[in-house]
Amino acid sequence: MRKEYTEYPFDWALHSLFTNAAKAINGTPKEYDRIMSRIGDMKELADFVFGHGDPGALFMKGFSQYTEAITTAHAKGRKLAFTTFCQSPAIFWAMDIVPIVLEPMTVLGNLVRKGGTAEFMDFCVEAGFTETSCSSQRGALGAYLKGLAEKPDFVAIDTGGICDTNANSFTFAASYLDIPFYQINYPPTLTDQRAADYHRADYRNFIKFLEAQTGNKLDEDKLRAVMQEIEVQDDLICEIQELQRLKPNPVPVIFNLFIYALRFTMAGMEPCTTMLRACLEAAKKNAAKGVSGLSSRDEKTRALFVYIDHYATNIPLWTFMDQMGIAHLGCILTKYYQDKVFYSNGDGYHLDTADLDSMIDALAEQNSRLPMVKQIRGPYDAPDMWLEEAMYLKDSMNADFAVYSGTPGCRNTWGMLKLLAKKLEDAGLPTLIINADAFDERVESWEATRHRFEEFLELRRLI
Ligand code: SF4
Repeated sequence: MRKEYTEYPFDWALHSLFTNAAKAINGTPKEYDRIMSRIGDMKELADFVFGHGDPGALFMKGFSQYTEAITTAHAKGRKLAFTTFCQSPAIFWAMDIVPIVLEPMTVLGNLVRKGGTAEFMDFCVEAGFTETSCSSQRGALGAYLKGLAEKPDFVAIDTGGICDTNANSFTFAASYLDIPFYQINYPPTLTDQRAADYHRADYRNFIKFLEAQTGNKLDEDKLRAVMQEIEVQDDLICEIQELQRLKPNPVPVIFNLFIYALRFTMAGMEPCTTMLRACLEAAKKNAAKGVSGLSSRDEKTRALFVYIDHYATNIPLWTFMDQMGIAHLGCILTKYYQDKVFYSNGDGYHLDTADLDSMIDALAEQNSRLPMVKQIRGPYDAPDMWLEEAMYLKDSMNADFAVYSGTPGCRNTWGMLKLLAKKLEDAGLPTLIINADAFDERVESWEATRHRFEEFLELRRLI
């Protein structure tokens, strides 16, 4: 690994960047320009994010607080858990454990660092881990394997449905770093009694593992406080997603990233609630005026991302969509299946905070419906799975076209993607398959991806 990459700890550098960027917006224009001249690699991102007012500033502040919790955890006597985006962080916060959620850390690194997290991905290979796995973990993982961040105390995860590559990243990490490991797993069905019983029993064992690692019993009152905060967050998200169905969509494209980035890291914590509230206020103002959330206020077409977004330096996907007049209708990462959200159709979870047992059951239900866990736990066209979701969202959100963006390491979706795309096309929805790696620009540059995207829009007469 190049010496420059080892000069500063990865987590500390992210914390420093987000903290200073969050402060910059409170300065005079001259002070803002001066600070941006020092962190030039993220100027475009900062201009675009701050251009969205309070939600943008609160997003930056939220990540400053999250990375502060990681970098100061050990000094404050807290444990650090290595975990994944499809495991709700609520249980960790309720037990005073700080979750290091690998995928958002990779995304953050990619968004603000020139060259993204490529060197860290390469280090994973140097350390003996396969390069054919999902790059969403490998970006940040390499920094931890290299010792360029606070060492986690244990690994506590579930997996994205049938995702072997996600699970392998964490088992490799546990073995390489020589730390304890626990993994929740999932049966192939979602809503029958056997599946519910399995989720609940497995989740209780998961809590026993966390108690053994921290030496603390789960505190009922703390857990209730976190879950009640999640309930507030769920209501805000449901309302934002309801607004996204309007034509024009009053929700700015970047709000999708804001929602899932903080939801995956700070669910149940106040910074996430404050930011979501600001997002809803901004979207409601646009809706009241009947205008689109795009900067131009001119919605030309509506895109449904059936998987994830694209995370190259300085968020080019979002600035591109904003410039082209493409409304973002959300992606798999914004779907949580609350019982009150419009797309849950009886598959949703209910947050019951009556007593400890009901709360643990509710968390298990919530976990079993997180992105990827829900949609790819079995065949793509089985009940409650990927195809059913995409078909339902196509109509209920008035999508004009669908986009698949993912990572070559995701054999779980590449194995069935062509079939999914064909069914969507047969149903009248033009579908673009992006061949790039959403987390590693070396596979296909953003410029090449953009060119293919534009070509698709033109050929299919979408713009
Ligand atoms: S993108 Fe694919 S490989 Fe990566 S975590 Fe999700 S299911 Fe697994």
